[in-house]
Amino acid sequence: MSAPVDSLPIERLAADLGAIEYSVDERVLRAKSRDRFAQSPLLREVMRGLTADIYIAPVSKEELRIAVGSCARHRIPITVRGGGTGQFGQGVPLTGGAVIDVTGIVGVLGQRLGTVRALCGTLIADIDAEIRPTGWELRMHPSTTRKATIGGYVAGGHAGIGSCQWGILRDRGNITAIEVMTVEEEPRLIELTGDAVNIAHHAYGATGIITEIELPTAPAWNWQELVIAFPEFAQAVRFAVDVCESEGVLKKVVSPQQHPLPTLYPDLSRLIPEGHSMVLMMAAEQSMPNVADLAADNSGAIVSRCDEGTGSYRLPLYEYTWGHSMMHFQRKNRGLIGLLALYPQDGLYESILRVCEEFADLGPTHVEMKRFDGGLSAQGSPVWEFESQEHLAEVTRRLQAAGLSIANTHTPTLLASGMKPWAAAEAEFKRRVDPYRLLAQGKSDDEVEDDLIRSTQLPNSGWSYRLTDSTGESDTAALDPAPTAANGVTPESVR
Ligand SMILES: Cc1cc2nc3c(=O)[nH]c(=O)nc-3n(C[C@H](O)[C@H](O)[C@H](O)COP(=O)(O)OP(=O)(O)OC[C@H]3O[C@@H](n4cnc5c(N)ncnc54)[C@H](O)[C@@H]3O)c2cc1C
Repeated sequence: MSAPVDSLPIERLAADLGAIEYSVDERVLRAKSRDRFAQSPLLREVMRGLTADIYIAPVSKEELRIAVGSCARHRIPITVRGGGTGQFGQGVPLTGGAVIDVTGIVGVLGQRLGTVRALCGTLIADIDAEIRPTGWELRMHPSTTRKATIGGYVAGGHAGIGSCQWGILRDRGNITAIEVMTVEEEPRLIELTGDAVNIAHHAYGATGIITEIELPTAPAWNWQELVIAFPEFAQAVRFAVDVCESEGVLKKVVSPQQHPLPTLYPDLSRLIPEGHSMVLMMAAEQSMPNVADLAADNSGAIVSRCDEGTGSYRLPLYEYTWGHSMMHFQRKNRGLIGLLALYPQDGLYESILRVCEEFADLGPTHVEMKRFDGGLSAQGSPVWEFESQEHLAEVTRRLQAAGLSIANTHTPTLLASGMKPWAAAEAEFKRRVDPYRLLAQGKSDDEVEDDLIRSTQLPNSGWSYRLTDSTGESDTAALDPAPTAANGVTPESVR
């Protein structure tokens, strides 16, 4: 890990910033150096006290270029910050330096050919709000859409609401273009398209500062929020798999949660009969007859149905699914924990139930249905009370032995996580865009402190993706993204 940044370069950087907003106030630095890592009992300990030396808040790409060029000249590490909702400590500056907050760089730049292009700091929900009157919406969003930026989602997230229909961000065609800014004395902009977008996706900002993103859109249906109660979890899972495998049924989220998990949501528990499991679902209005039939076939009762965002519960329904579920569970019991495990696509229904039964003593199961690599899967695990790192490692090993793929989502480092393939293309691109290795220090390299590695280490089978071949070489290696000048570049001129 690099030595702490001494104060002289920071003063020189501050002097270069002119009218660009910045702060060296300790409270500001502490607040802006955190993300939501406290969801992990391992990260809670090791991330404490890691702060940046300066906070910078540019409000345009031009201000960003000035700040980044100065950081490059003075060799100051950079951590980019969006909404700060990452859960793996990706947004924590491990080696100090500058936190560059891009939430002031906002705006939808335009729509064309079923895509939308936006500046990196735009809130995801704001993009949907702006394009919905045209009849379109983003294919997917995280459950944090009201707080997260589009740049942070693409740099730090991976899937969400919409993934049961469209797959994950990494799947071909789910990100159409990413523009990144290099970290050089004279920063350049580089446009990534095709498979090369995955060099910047889920790289925690290590392979360039994302400045603009172009994403495909989907028809904006009249989404219905459904709470469906099932006497048995097996019926909930059967329904979830069948509704997802019914490709003509339009859905956005399908979230089976085993009894007694529904009782952990004060807003929802009154809707669910005692002892029942539930599926939280968003379905298009025209698909409702099929959804109702499938629910009835599996003894499910639709106990609440309403237009999106109008439920008797406080929040949009998707804020009780995906990463939000654990947030609610931990409000009831801070010790609860789960794993981001992937269930095998073959025999999905059987494997969810087999694992659920085998781990019944550990805790009830919560999964999210999602497609990836062209097939249906589920992500989640039993939910149980954290005991120790050793016990967590043991549970991870047992779940892996039961056939689940598990990346380590309790570490801020890409290599230890295994969730993103880091192959020749990523390493080579990083050399080009970040020659002084200032970006996301400690997250993509082997300079991470032993201590951090030791205290967050878990068995790791990674997540296999079809895009990565058996040698670990990503098939993006052959692509040569086009460099462009940083100033005066319009979206049209770089395509
Ligand atoms: C309650 C809860 C629910 C969640 N649900 C989901 C979910 O459904 N799906 C999902 O995928 N994730 C989920 N997450 C994780 C997180 O919300 C998403 O990944 C989110 O989209 C991150 O966006 P952000 O703007 O908050 O990014 P930040 O947390 O600010 O940043 C995330 C990472 O990206 C980097 N980064 C940010 N902006 C840029 C940029 N412009 N250029 C380069 N690097 C950048 C940061 O340095 C950091 O490494 C959830 C988190 C919480 C706390």
